[in-house]
Amino acid sequence: MRKDDQNRRLCNQTTRAGNPCRAPAIKGSTVCNAHGGQLPRVKAKAARTLLEELVEPALLALRDIVQDMKQPASARVAAARDILDRTGYKPILEVRGMPTVAQFDEWIEELEAEQG
Ligand SMILES: [Zn+2]
Repeated sequence: MRKDDQNRRLCNQTTRAGNPCRAPAIKGSTVCNAHGGQLPRVKAKAARTLLEELVEPALLALRDIVQDMKQPASARVAAARDILDRTGYKPILEVRGMPTVAQFDEWIEELEAEQG
């Protein structure tokens, strides 16, 4: 990616005259506002790109909190829970085999019969 003298990333498109565009690319993209940077799909993709760039730092921050014994226990537990939730170690919240009202009534009758 080309950069200007202020180290800004430049648009990768060319002008009508065939010269490289000198405008800065929008953050997260390779084009300037004049070359599609204002289109909703380009802006959405740029936003996704910027967010994806934050995934690794976010994971490293969570790891640091979990491993830092100087952090409050509540912060360490919250970070640990976030990591576990996102790696497939969620608690099972689903209730399986919920009895029907008829089955429940049957069980009550059986219990009452057992107790005489
Ligand atoms: Zn441009």
